[in-house]
Amino acid sequence: MRKIDITGQKVGRLTVLSDTGKNSGSHTIWLCRCDCGQLTEVRSDRLRSSHTKSCGCLRKEIKHGDSCGGKKSRLYGIWDSMKLRCFNPKQQGYKYYGGKGIKVCDEWKNSYLTFKAWALANGYQDNLTIDRIDSDGNYCPENCRWLTLSENVRNGAFKRWGGEHKAEQEVRISALALEPAGKNKRRLK
Ligand SMILES: [Zn+2]
Repeated sequence: MRKIDITGQKVGRLTVLSDTGKNSGSHTIWLCRCDCGQLTEVRSDRLRSSHTKSCGCLRKEIKHGDSCGGKKSRLYGIWDSMKLRCFNPKQQGYKYYGGKGIKVCDEWKNSYLTFKAWALANGYQDNLTIDRIDSDGNYCPENCRWLTLSENVRNGAFKRWGGEHKAEQEVRISALALEPAGKNKRRLK
């Protein structure tokens, strides 16, 4: 079979970097880089047929919500900690959220993908934090928007906590969401 050079081609999340020099039967094995940063070796026929489109993170993501290379995404962390604040009495911020009757709407609570779809359609970016427009209202599509942390502060989100000490906690919670989930998990325990 004539070898076709596919270096530089993009298949799904994969960018073909180079020929590994290895073969599997008549198929060349290519070294690819996934958008999540992982390197992976893929057979040419699997690339051609788009059978393989990621290092494996795509499949995991569909299964578990939103992880890439084993790490949960920031947005997933936001979703997770939002639910913890509202539904887990052991959570540090619970008394200011769940304890005050703030809930996460059922669609979001039950489906990360629904929350993610709303987030992406409403301007979510990795530097933004979720804000409730009515501070007594729930986490739901009608009452939420994305703001930078400093906008969130200006809008008085922090005053609701009643003072600097509590504001600090919110900053810490927001900061946690900015960190890779590995750390996040440890610190939230
Ligand atoms: Zn990947």
